[in-house]
Amino acid sequence: MSKFRQPYLFAIIYKKILFFQNMKTIKKDIRTLSKESLRVFFVKNSDKAFRGNQVYEWLWIKSAQTFNEMTNLPLTTREMLKDNFVINHILVDKMQKSIDGTIKNAIKLYDGLIVESVLIPTKKRTTACVSSQVGCSLDCNFCATGKLKRMRNLNAGEIYDQVVEINRQSKLYYNRKLSNIVFMGMGEPLLNYKNVINAIHKITNDEGLGMSAKRITLSTVGIPKMIKKMADDGVKFNLAVSLHAAINEIRSRLMPINDTNNLEDLLDSLQYWYEKTKRKITFEYVVFKEFNDTQKDINALVKYCKQIPSKVNLITYNNIGDEEYQAADRKIIEQYVKTLETNNIIVKVRRSRGDDIAAACGQLANKMIR
Ligand code: SAH
Repeated sequence: MSKFRQPYLFAIIYKKILFFQNMKTIKKDIRTLSKESLRVFFVKNSDKAFRGNQVYEWLWIKSAQTFNEMTNLPLTTREMLKDNFVINHILVDKMQKSIDGTIKNAIKLYDGLIVESVLIPTKKRTTACVSSQVGCSLDCNFCATGKLKRMRNLNAGEIYDQVVEINRQSKLYYNRKLSNIVFMGMGEPLLNYKNVINAIHKITNDEGLGMSAKRITLSTVGIPKMIKKMADDGVKFNLAVSLHAAINEIRSRLMPINDTNNLEDLLDSLQYWYEKTKRKITFEYVVFKEFNDTQKDINALVKYCKQIPSKVNLITYNNIGDEEYQAADRKIIEQYVKTLETNNIIVKVRRSRGDDIAAACGQLANKMIR
């Protein structure tokens, strides 16, 4: 070996040693451990397995943010946990209230990244709109989140915590518990499937929030392969699909995902979903001026809906400061409603909420409007 290369190699080896030493000192987030793994951890550390159950309860039912809160554990045990783990929890960085009562939260994650979660109160219910990813990779042209780069998936704890926080706000400001959860915040939940399912499991489990899966709706751009997987996995929550057009060429212009996952493949997966779950699909549909506002578009939607038990939510376009898109005239929306109803398809026109603080569908882009 040449004289020149030797110091260079030593430097690399030294760097590697430092790297592995660092790895050792980076503590694991205890909330990534299952109850069983916690039990095993305690047994391995010469303690009783039931300590695992106690810690699990503190972490999920009681949402403890520090080990010191775990007062039924001996001090030495709490210290031992501190030496081995951290609890990565979310923090509300900023909160804003709309004139209609909607509350938007900028949530800071352990690594400093921000996502948004929204509390939407109505007369009958309070709904949490939660995020599943930081940013989004899907580039739906009319969506503000779609313009943000996808940074990373949220872990199950970060998704769960949003629900806990919104539930706390619901009780504090509206004197009632959260009644519904929609995965309609930032990101595409089916591109973070494992963590979303894990979070929903904890949200619905008695050793978590104990909410009914029937009150949870997952909204997706429509990824056929994953819709079939959900059906096979026997999930119990509701499915909403962002359709926005029932003509391939138009849907592709609005949502590039349609180039590789077209309407026919989507329909095939939805029929599979219905066969397995017997639960109707909700189509979300924004009517845009000059994109999908003709009778031809309406007829295509009717034809599509007739092939699958479904209902339609017509959503008003929420401005994202882009010249290209505008909401369709009210008359067109009325025409959609009339034609769908004549064909016995259930349709609702969804009022936009939290528009004044950029908290409405598609407006979540980490901007706190003053
Ligand atoms: N990725 C998922 C969930 C996030 S968006 C999905 O696409 O379904 C939640 C809903 O808001 C979707 O139906 C989306 O198409 C819609 N949306 C996005 N931008 C919008 C806007 N500017 N106005 C109205 N709805 C919008």
